[in-house]
Amino acid sequence: MTRLTGKCFCGAVAYEVEDAFVYAANCHCSDCRRTTGSAFKPFAGIERQKFAVVKGEDGLLIFGDAENHDAHCKTCGSLLYSRVREAAWVHVAMGTLVDAPAIRPSHHIFVGSKAPWYEITDDLPQYQGHKG
Ligand SMILES: [Zn+2]
Ligand SMILES: [Zn+2]
Repeated sequence: MTRLTGKCFCGAVAYEVEDAFVYAANCHCSDCRRTTGSAFKPFAGIERQKFAVVKGEDGLLIFGDAENHDAHCKTCGSLLYSRVREAAWVHVAMGTLVDAPAIRPSHHIFVGSKAPWYEITDDLPQYQGHKG
C-alpha cells in the first residue's frame, strides 16, 4: 500500500496516510471556509487507523473535543485534518498533502452556503448539504 506524506506550512507537524481514501469532496460550508481562509476546502476521507501523525504530535492545536475536532499546527496555524464521526474517520485537508493521492474531489458539498464571490466552474455534482 502506498503511503502518502503531508505536513503543515512550517514543517513542525507531519503525517502519513495510506493512499486509500474512500471519498473526496470540496466543502463550501462556512466552517471550512473560515478554517482554511479559502473559498472551499478540498478534503479526503479515510478510516482513522490508516492515518498517523508522525512528527510533532505535541505541536498540535486541537479545536473541538477528543472525538470530533480540527487539528492545526499550533506554530503556523495550518489546518491539517479533522477527526470526524466519533473519531472513526479522518478528513485530511488535501492542501497539506505533499504527495499526490490517487483520489480526486468528485463533488461539491454545502454549496447552499457557498461564498457569493466564488463561482464553481467545473461540472462536478453539487449538493446543498451533505451528499445524498
Ligand atoms: Zn506548522
Ligand atoms: Zn465544511
